[in-house]
Amino acid sequence: MNVEQLLADKGHDVVSVQPHRTLGEVIRTLSERRIGAVVVMGEDGKLVGILSERDIIRTLGETGAGALELPVSRAMTSKVVTCRPQTSVDELMEIMTSGRFRHVPVVENGRVTGLVSIGDVVKHRVAAIEAESRAMRDYIAMA
Ligand code: AMP
Repeated sequence: MNVEQLLADKGHDVVSVQPHRTLGEVIRTLSERRIGAVVVMGEDGKLVGILSERDIIRTLGETGAGALELPVSRAMTSKVVTCRPQTSVDELMEIMTSGRFRHVPVVENGRVTGLVSIGDVVKHRVAAIEAESRAMRDYIAMA
């Protein structure tokens, strides 16, 4: 299983914001869309960062409530680790585990075409384990 197959199931929807938006605005977006991170895109549609709920909490902890007025660019991670549609799900798990993050944008020909979260990966793993266990039970029942 690779990222392309995961996205075929989940969809290619990517919620993005521009770096000048405020953290308060992003909190509303995260809450309305029920997601944990947004990708940050410049006006040219190029990926310039990623901002997760962790970044918002950290900035709130450091700055206090005034953080809500700060721009996304002050709290985001600029060095974004991405994957390709061909990246395997096993490789993706390794990327998330070693990088200690739960979101990875999918980039194809320089454009973001999807975003995979740890939740998508876990959902896939659970489905794969269930299918394997069903196949084992069927095999034993046949024997
Ligand atoms: P997360 O676990 O995804 O909520 O993110 C934890 C931290 O890692 C935050 O500081 C994020 O900005 C950062 N982060 C999340 N995803 C990525 C990524 N794909 N590449 C680099 N940093 C990331």
